[in-house]
Amino acid sequence: MKTFIFIICFMLMNNITMRAQDIYRRFFLDNPVVAHRGAWKTKGIPQNSIESLREAMRLGCAGSEFDVHMTADSVFVLCHDNSYFGKVIEKHTYAELAETKLPNGETVPTLEKALMEGMKQTDTRLFLEIKSSSTVERTVLSAEKIAKLVNEMGAQPWVFYISFDYEAIKRIKQLFPSSVVAYLSGNVSPKQLKEDKITGLDYNHSVFKKDTSMIKNAQEFGLSLNVWTVNSSEAMDLFLNQNVDYITTDEPELLLSKKK
Ligand code: MG
Repeated sequence: MKTFIFIICFMLMNNITMRAQDIYRRFFLDNPVVAHRGAWKTKGIPQNSIESLREAMRLGCAGSEFDVHMTADSVFVLCHDNSYFGKVIEKHTYAELAETKLPNGETVPTLEKALMEGMKQTDTRLFLEIKSSSTVERTVLSAEKIAKLVNEMGAQPWVFYISFDYEAIKRIKQLFPSSVVAYLSGNVSPKQLKEDKITGLDYNHSVFKKDTSMIKNAQEFGLSLNVWTVNSSEAMDLFLNQNVDYITTDEPELLLSKKK
């Protein structure tokens, strides 16, 4: 962290300007690999577990993605679906969810635990997806609380926020302007993202295949360019050749093997 502060001060004194995402990026591994819900597939590890996060870090991925929901008592847990073993997350307390363990024996991981695990190292960034709640208001509230927790823990340099909810990521930027945030839904143009001060786009690969000018367009606006979920070798090659910043994949070992 001291090194990080030193470099920021050095840049300010020397009037060096960089894209916000690049300031943080230089502290982590320089590859485009983001493990989707952690690295789970090869070893049969539960998705969105601390073990899958650790495996992504062990493999040397530049990023590990996970999904975050808010429980009825405002605890943040990692889970893809809006229900955890049949219990709708926003209608149950953390204690109720914790009655059922993941297949590897872990209690449903909290965001706090995932952040603490990530902050033990500086190779792998944390791609934190803010999942949508039943209402936009609750999703935005969830985003606010998550951003405050991240900042209280000093985890901001590790975190790359992503969400399908545009209001949620806009709110994070309002609260903490230096946050790195990308939008997932694929329906906002690079120009509009730039105007709204969103760091970048993290769109499904089909969006880029449909609009072949979008990648160049986003790069010209200086936006961070991420693509999901790319699992075939051919598609990986296609996006590597276009110099996207990050590729989210269920096959991190395959993508890592393509590093130069
Ligand atoms: Mg996700």
